[in-house]
Amino acid sequence: MTSRSAVRVVDAVRTLEGEGFEVRRGFPTANLDMVDPFLLLDEMGPTDHPPGGAKGAPDHPHRGFETVTYLLEGAFEHRDSVGNAGRLGPGDVQWMTAGAGVVHSELPAAELREHGGRLHGFQLWVNLPAADKMKPAHYQEIPASDIPVVMRDGATARVIAGEALGTKGAVTTHSPITYVHATLEPGATLTIPAPRSQHAFAHVFAGRGRAGGNAKPIAEGQLALFTADGDELTLAADDDTSLDALLLAGEPLAEPVARYGPFVMNTRDEIVQAVRDFQEGRLGAISPT
Ligand code: MN
Repeated sequence: MTSRSAVRVVDAVRTLEGEGFEVRRGFPTANLDMVDPFLLLDEMGPTDHPPGGAKGAPDHPHRGFETVTYLLEGAFEHRDSVGNAGRLGPGDVQWMTAGAGVVHSELPAAELREHGGRLHGFQLWVNLPAADKMKPAHYQEIPASDIPVVMRDGATARVIAGEALGTKGAVTTHSPITYVHATLEPGATLTIPAPRSQHAFAHVFAGRGRAGGNAKPIAEGQLALFTADGDELTLAADDDTSLDALLLAGEPLAEPVARYGPFVMNTRDEIVQAVRDFQEGRLGAISPT
């Protein structure tokens, strides 16, 4: 097995999302449009919110892709137009296949909005193959206790999807995808498989280290893209600091992408149809409690 090189390091960009909460956006930004099949990566916080200060994303639609929420600290509540409702706590994952469409709300939990508190998490958007874009919406809710945690030589891998250190993740995906949260003690290294056909990147959100067989320096707030010169991804923490990162790899769909806000389709006509379907109520609405 050969470790793939990290060829390019890009800075995440701070921006506002939803009703005005700050995220650190890995992409899309002016630096990086997408990493097919991944469309967007946002880090929410970590932020200590005062009472009444925690904001979220009230009722909004999605069609044509998946939203993956991974929470590290705090709690989120979600509701949707199909009648689903749930809560995410630290370490939990919600893998939502929007498919043909839902309207949903994603808000910090009521007690966190009222009393304040700390929020930290990620949202990843995964594109769907054209053939799956109009399937009915579907959820995979994975509590932290069901996410495999593998530890070896100072490296901890939480395997959300794909495989790391011989352990398979908890999620079923529409195309081959690896999603691993890596926590490395100072000087520790993690290597996971990622076939060269897959696009792959590491997003570091704490600490500092080296990515790839070429030991490219990478630090908090940066994303490293791996090239196709091997079949493994390597990430190491520097000797004087620990490191936390998301490692993502996925088989590119290599299909046309037409995106407009919360809709990601293959053609402009399909986007026009999605907007019309939403405006005319065909994606549903969240019924009042
Ligand atoms: Mn959403």
